[in-house]
Amino acid sequence: MSMLEEFREETRDWLKTNCPDGAKGPGYIPIGSKSVELDSDVKLWLERMVEKGWTVPTWPKEFGGANLNNDEYRVLIEELKRINARPPLTGRGVNYIGPTILELGTEDQKARWLTVCARGEGAWAMGYSEPGAGSDLASLSTRAERRGDQYLLNGRKTWTSDAAYCDYIFVLARTAPEKPKHDGISLILVDMHQEGVEVSPITLLSGASPFCETIFEDAIASARDIVGGVDKGWTAGKRLLQFERSTHAGINISGSQGGLTQESDLPELVRKYVGTDSGKIADFGMRERLLRYEMNTKSQQITQKRAIEELHARAPAFTSSAVKLTNALNIQEGDEILMDAMGPSGYRWNDESGATKDEVAALKRWLYQKSLTIAGGTKEVQLNIIAKRVLGLPD
Ligand SMILES: Cc1cc2nc3c(=O)[nH]c(=O)nc-3n(C[C@H](O)[C@H](O)[C@H](O)COP(=O)(O)OP(=O)(O)OC[C@H]3O[C@@H](n4cnc5c(N)ncnc54)[C@H](O)[C@@H]3O)c2cc1C
Repeated sequence: MSMLEEFREETRDWLKTNCPDGAKGPGYIPIGSKSVELDSDVKLWLERMVEKGWTVPTWPKEFGGANLNNDEYRVLIEELKRINARPPLTGRGVNYIGPTILELGTEDQKARWLTVCARGEGAWAMGYSEPGAGSDLASLSTRAERRGDQYLLNGRKTWTSDAAYCDYIFVLARTAPEKPKHDGISLILVDMHQEGVEVSPITLLSGASPFCETIFEDAIASARDIVGGVDKGWTAGKRLLQFERSTHAGINISGSQGGLTQESDLPELVRKYVGTDSGKIADFGMRERLLRYEMNTKSQQITQKRAIEELHARAPAFTSSAVKLTNALNIQEGDEILMDAMGPSGYRWNDESGATKDEVAALKRWLYQKSLTIAGGTKEVQLNIIAKRVLGLPD
């Protein structure tokens, strides 16, 4: 038996005895916020996976990982998927800021922050976008001024997802306003539990919203917590964006969810609405669209697998833009197909109108997933990156 086969057997045995039933099924487990009470099975699952180093399987053992290589990582993910286990931990700690610190942080930052991320001790928000700086992120105006061994932050960040439940935030702020706009920016880690940080949820059409506005008024950060060097935040911040895009694309192997794309029940649902008794679809146009969607989904999964196998870092660089974009477009096309198949039944907001659970969920998913071509960099921004950095077209 090869070493990899042995690893698979050990992993399978361990998961069989250690993954509680309450940690199985679709969806994700909460992001590790100190203010979110985990239910007992989920808590146990997180504790056990932390002990194995499998919340961040590819990280070095000294920082809470298990030092798995890419083949072992793939096996772990396959085995998690086989028993329908949810990733024990997800979020911006293990997926975005953790791997950025691993690549670009100081030894002091690695020692202080990485095990915090690996153990899910606190959730992280992302403080990049501002009312006047989205795609043109380098125009940001939040300031961080040095005061002794600290920085004072002042400014306004918008669209900070989940900030109301987060404990920490990584912020892009201007540390040298006199320098050209890409040069005077730093990436700073900030504790959100302090007076100078104010979070207000932004309510969207759906009534509930994960979005917040986060305002800094003389918020304090330690000068030890600038990642990637003072005034060098543009480079560190862009690398973090690649981790974000790779997570959206399913090819970030920093946490334990890279490649753990859940199987979609969409084709089955579509057939329920427009299929005949035998399950076949009479309408040629609908049949062709669904077939194309299924083929694209398969190609996407194969591409994710290949990208992970070829990885030399914990996430690829510019490839992440292409895989993120094709993933988002395919998911959105799936939503459109389902809504068309459901017809008027798909446009009912709640079950009071007689809609089924699937119909209400489909409508909300269709609306929410329109954001997939905005969040983490818009479709046009990804196309610009692919044109310039992948295809080498002129600027
Ligand atoms: C679900 C979701 C979650 C988010 N979470 C966070 C978060 O946690 N933290 C955070 O900091 N931000 C977050 N964002 C914000 C997100 O990063 C921005 O919305 C995004 O970068 C676009 O910025 P903008 O909204 O200001 O739009 P703009 O940049 O104003 O863009 C408006 C339109 O102009 C187009 N455009 C802009 N520039 C160009 C160009 N050069 N070439 C071609 N077209 C262009 C865009 O593609 C878009 O269609 C989130 C957004 C969403 C939707």
